[in-house]
Formats: sequence, structure tokens, C-alpha cells
Amino acid sequence: MGNKGSLNIVLLGAPGAGKGTQADILVKAYHLPHVSTGDMLRAAVKEGGKLGIKIKTCMDKGELVPDEIVTASVVDRMKKSDAANGVILDGYPRTLAQAESLDKALSREKRNISAVLYFKTSENVVVQRLSGRRVCPSCGKNYHVTNIPPKKEGICDTCNIKLVLRDDDKPETVKNRLKVYEERTKDLVDYYKKNGLLREVDGDLSANKLFEQINTLFKREGFVNDCCNG
Ligand code: AMP
Repeated sequence: MGNKGSLNIVLLGAPGAGKGTQADILVKAYHLPHVSTGDMLRAAVKEGGKLGIKIKTCMDKGELVPDEIVTASVVDRMKKSDAANGVILDGYPRTLAQAESLDKALSREKRNISAVLYFKTSENVVVQRLSGRRVCPSCGKNYHVTNIPPKKEGICDTCNIKLVLRDDDKPETVKNRLKVYEERTKDLVDYYKKNGLLREVDGDLSANKLFEQINTLFKREGFVNDCCNG
């Protein structure tokens, strides 16, 4: 793992808050790897084996994968050389127990979380984003009917197949997902508020405007300098 000077950012926010889109921008701007536990777990399922089967069983039921499996994968990922200068953590930690075990693991490596970006969003914006989201069933790339349209309407730019609306992105389900999300993450938000790491950002802004807000914040905190974005 890298040293204390590394920039380790946690992205926290409801589904549809724009974390994935912002993660792509931050990765390019600051040359840090995007560590998404959802992606890592899907890759582990593809690899198969006993562990893959165990993970798949949890994911298929929509349950969280046991903390020790997820934390071990994240900590291992952070030991890779491309993560020495920091990481953009997306989808992790998701529970208070994960936040605590991550802190313990990082402190053993003389490393810490630099900031937690908490994407605040209003319900109508999230419903509009998620109900307009379309996903490629083959490569998993996300589009949006108006915000990020594919080149050919309804068709994946890369795979040339029909995009789909995820079942859980339907407006009637989105409201419930948001409620569940808030209940589940309340402890996590309180934890990061208490230890002074939580930074609220405006998830209702467009992706570029939100990046400006984050970059200004990072400059003020001394995480990045003025001459460049990283
Ligand atoms: P995501 O792509 O972030 O929506 O994650 C997809 C699924 O992976 C979740 O529904 C969980 O089953 C699992 N997962 C992702 N991140 C975590 C995490 N931090 N802790 C436990 N399970 C996770």
C-alpha cells in the first residue's frame, strides 16, 4: 500500500446520485484507479470457485456479501502498485462494520481515508435519472435517454445490441430503494460526520459542474494543486 500522502476518496450516495459518472471523471483527472466493489465481486463470480459461488449466492438474492470477503478484496486491491497514490472507492464501505474494518486495515499500512464525498440528491432528480437510465445487457455500460444517449437510439455503441431498463430502475421501485438506502447508510454517514471526513457535495448538479465543485474542494483541502488536476 502507499503511504499517508495517498489520496483515498470514498464516494457515498444513493443509487442514481451520479457516483459512477463522477468516478469516471475523477479517475481521469487525478490518475487514480476506480475501485468498485460491485465490479470486483462480479469479476470474482466470473472466476468461479468456491468463493465465486458464495458471492453469487448473496448477489443473486440482493443481499450484501459478507464484510470479511469484501474488505479483504478491497485491502488486497489497495496493495497493488497502481493504487500507491490513492484510490476512488465506489460502493464500499456500505456498512458501519466495513468502515471500521477498513480504517483498521488502513492504519496498519500507515494509510487513511482522505475524504468521503457524500452526494446529496433530491428524490425527483434521482427518479428522473434512474428511470431514464438504460443498460447494455452484454457489457454493462450505462446510458441515459437524454443525459448520455447512445449514438443510435436504444442500441449499445460497443455491442450493437438493444439497451434495457433495469427492473429496479422503474420509478415505483426507485422511491423504495432510496428509502432503504437512507436507512442503511445513516450510521455510516454519522460515523464519517463524527470523524470529520464527510464532505457534502451537490449530486443534483450536472457531472461537469459537480466535478468543478469537488476539484475546488480538493484544492482548498490541499489534496491537489492549482497547476493541474492531480
Ligand atoms: P453494486 O454494483 O455496487 O450495486 O453492487 C452489486 C452487489 O454487489 C450488491 O447488491 C451486493 O450484493 C454486492 N456488493 C457490492 N458492494 C458491496 C459491499 N461494499 N458490501 C457487500 N456487498 C457488496
